[in-house]
Amino acid sequence: MIKPYMDENAQVFSDNDLEKEIRKYNKEIFELVDNTRKHKVEHGFTLCWNKEKKTTYINEICKGEHSCVNLKGCQYPYQFATIHVHPKGGGWVPSPKDVIGSLSESEAVFCVGAIGTTRKKDAFQCYTLTDETEPRQKYCKAWQDDDWMTTSSMIGDSVFKPGKNNILRPIFRLFRN
Ligand SMILES: [Zn+2]
Repeated sequence: MIKPYMDENAQVFSDNDLEKEIRKYNKEIFELVDNTRKHKVEHGFTLCWNKEKKTTYINEICKGEHSCVNLKGCQYPYQFATIHVHPKGGGWVPSPKDVIGSLSESEAVFCVGAIGTTRKKDAFQCYTLTDETEPRQKYCKAWQDDDWMTTSSMIGDSVFKPGKNNILRPIFRLFRN
């Protein structure tokens, strides 16, 4: 499936392209996990799109406040991805706030890291938002209404039982290699 991205320059990425771009940062990505394990707070960074060079770059690595809310964003609409790790027990399912953040920046992809029982099992699940407007509108309304049941179920459904109501599409998973 191909998703148009950043209307202005009509850059288009396939799922494979997205994965390739994210894999460039494998080392930095798994450093986030190590730091999260060590300090028990979220760590993350954003990748911005450089229009001229047609490539991404790391904006700023967030060393982790209590919930790493201050990942530095990119100038709209050039936020390509956010990558962040939940501390132990958090898993790789995004929070409603993670999803809303991605929606509002129109990112191409975002990845959530989970701490494994061993370092070998540390992993990132990467997602993209579905293109359908209906789930997006439903999700935003539920978010505005503080309808936690709906926002949670639309994330859970997307991850565990793909169906019509999905807001997210899981696209690839990264493991330590
Ligand atoms: Zn999160």
